[in-house]
Amino acid sequence: MTQALFKKVAFIGFGLIGSSLARVIQQQKLAEQVVASTRSIKTWQDAKALGLITHGYTDPVAAVEHADLVILALPVQATQAVLQRIAPYIGDQTILTDVGSTKGNVVEAAKKVFGSLPEGFVPGHPIAGSEHTGVHAGKADLFAGHKVILTPLESSAPWAVQQLTQLWQATGAEVVCMSVQKHDEVLAHTSHLPHLMAFNLVAQFTSRQDNLDIFRYAAGGFRDFSRIAASDPQMWHDIFLSNKDAILKAVDGFETQLQQIRRLIEQEDSNHLMQVLQDAQSARQHFNHMLKKNTVLEKEHVTQQFTILPKKHHFKGTFTIPGDKSVSHRSIMFGSIAEGTTNVTGFLEGEDALATLQAFKDMGVHIEGPKDGKVTIHGVGMSGLKAPTQALYMGNSGTSMRLLSGMLCAQQFDTVMTGDASLSKRPMERIAKPLRDMGAQIQTTGEKGTPPVSITGQQVLKGIHYQLPMASAQVKSGILLAGLWAQGETSVAEPEPTRDHTERMLRAFGYDVKTEGNTITLTGGGKLVGTDIQVPSDISSAAFFMVGAAICEDSDVTLEAVGINPTRTGVIEILKQMGADISVNNARIAGGEPIADIRIRGTRTLKGIHIPEDQVPLAIDEFPALFVAASCAEGQTVLTGAAELRVKESDRIQVMVDGLQAMGIDCTPTPDGIVIEGKGQSGDWSPIFKGAEVQSHHDHRIAMSFSIAGIRAAEKIVIHGTETVATSFPTFTQLANEAGLTIDTVD
Ligand code: NAP
Repeated sequence: MTQALFKKVAFIGFGLIGSSLARVIQQQKLAEQVVASTRSIKTWQDAKALGLITHGYTDPVAAVEHADLVILALPVQATQAVLQRIAPYIGDQTILTDVGSTKGNVVEAAKKVFGSLPEGFVPGHPIAGSEHTGVHAGKADLFAGHKVILTPLESSAPWAVQQLTQLWQATGAEVVCMSVQKHDEVLAHTSHLPHLMAFNLVAQFTSRQDNLDIFRYAAGGFRDFSRIAASDPQMWHDIFLSNKDAILKAVDGFETQLQQIRRLIEQEDSNHLMQVLQDAQSARQHFNHMLKKNTVLEKEHVTQQFTILPKKHHFKGTFTIPGDKSVSHRSIMFGSIAEGTTNVTGFLEGEDALATLQAFKDMGVHIEGPKDGKVTIHGVGMSGLKAPTQALYMGNSGTSMRLLSGMLCAQQFDTVMTGDASLSKRPMERIAKPLRDMGAQIQTTGEKGTPPVSITGQQVLKGIHYQLPMASAQVKSGILLAGLWAQGETSVAEPEPTRDHTERMLRAFGYDVKTEGNTITLTGGGKLVGTDIQVPSDISSAAFFMVGAAICEDSDVTLEAVGINPTRTGVIEILKQMGADISVNNARIAGGEPIADIRIRGTRTLKGIHIPEDQVPLAIDEFPALFVAASCAEGQTVLTGAAELRVKESDRIQVMVDGLQAMGIDCTPTPDGIVIEGKGQSGDWSPIFKGAEVQSHHDHRIAMSFSIAGIRAAEKIVIHGTETVATSFPTFTQLANEAGLTIDTVD
């Protein structure tokens, strides 16, 4: 038997929450002994009969003697009276915690009783529960997949926090720490106000004559909304009084909003009413994404996989690939800080660009859509952004976080940016450092300088001349964007040219940006003017179809209106050098960006090449797909100068090597690239890849690259963790299936 975490655990109060935790402690043998003190004899007798405790009492003193963990699991307003009784029995080594839904009043009660707080005292609150109460309602999986908030105090010892964290993690919960004040504010909005509204709604109906009819004919809306009004009145009475200040603020905010919506209905102001409802709907949808991400990515529960069965695939057709992610992001950012209205068409409704859109809504910008790729942004000007009420959630999007770092450090308010598990591992110091040189106050987290990123507003920024140590369009853009608000001139010199969407779009919004050689310069203090932006089809997404056609016999694919910005066309150039039959037709300009129709045919076997280093920044996102092309080519392909690939959504060199090797390809990773021994033979279109199960590491481009390899697979290919494909190419499987590559999706 593994050693128990605790010798004796004493619960004071043993209802839904206490007994659920005790169930986990018993199941996992986390304590040698569990006892409880309850108000009624019956409760502890039932608990004993259920095998959850060895001894029960109605006197808390009897329970806590010699306990090394004491858990208060009773209504919060009973805290002080109980602490008064047990305080003399709380030793130096005793951990004292609680599960109460409010924290400020619990800490106040403890201060009154103890004076100087014991170091084992660590308040806590599991964010899980139900409207049922009592020892019989408890369940061992109540906390699994939920959060538990601990609010360690200055007096709390690290050993106590650590042991409690271990205990709660054993329940399957994720433990987060925050201050007492923050806890009470957050919970007032997310839990206490909704409960108050549910009680209030039902109370309003019960006082009406016709209430029976209302309940009898109650539709789903009433049922959904009022479910939580069946919760324990005593508990909620205590919570409302204990967290009075924060709850009153939340109620005030609600009342203001209610008045507004009342007025809009009264005045039959259809447009504004529609706006309010649409904004709420899209915020709720964004919240769904966040919840999905939390469970999908942070808990590493893979929910989606692609399967491709071996057959002689064909690959043909004319397709419109979704809008460019980089341009979609920037259209929202620049439209928001412009004066006047910006109309966007072809907007990519993928999760990354939607995260940017939501961030600007959170900063008070009125944005309509997206609907069928159309977005209307009512710009607020250079000084019109407002402080968001909470951290801005960037999901999986590195572009959003790096570009917004530049914009936010110039604002008059503080901000925090967070991301999902994958984004939370990506380096942010590369942008934070030059921004600090400009006078920004910006902090990243941990030794590796990762998100969350915290920014203190109201700083005076000054222009700098910055020599980029590595080619990165995101860092370049972040600095240039900060430069819009900085005093004087900001210039960035890049070692190799990178994507210039920021420069082009700033010009389209009327801002003067100079490009001389490899140096881009702008002067702060100007303004942007709203404009119309047509987002071109994304060449990075189109790359999967280009490679698919290039490795498939007799294929013939045309991709319409693809962005061919010269800083992005590396994939076309590299495929041409490998001998692909590819032509760029009908080149034209749309919204400041060059676009064209691209046709690729599978007429000849590709050749391995040494990829010219000057093409690397121009094809940086397309390499996973190009590695698949290289595997099907005749001879060796060598990539150098691409260390950047190791810090994308995944380490794209290692992850591709792992997958390709599993699929029977001889390839070797190098610090800044890869060597691939292509298995193709001139004129031979037989399968190249053997069957395998590969991991995408939740990286959308890896998932799509391995899917395309399925065209030349001899056996079944299964790709795990493909749900992130929706971040950049929501219609990928649909279009691939239309072209002739059947991809089965399992959620
Ligand atoms: P519960 O099922 O009603 O259980 C409450 C327990 O506390 C019972 O064992 C009760 O004893 C005992 N108790 C009640 N008043 C007492 C008093 N004045 N002195 C001593 N013991 C008393 O409640 P619960 O849902 O477990 O909630 C417990 C705590 O967890 C509350 O602080 C609540 O804010 C917090 N919480 C609840 C939820 C939720 O959804 N329910 C979620 C998170 C946190 P008897 O059984 O003998 O009456």
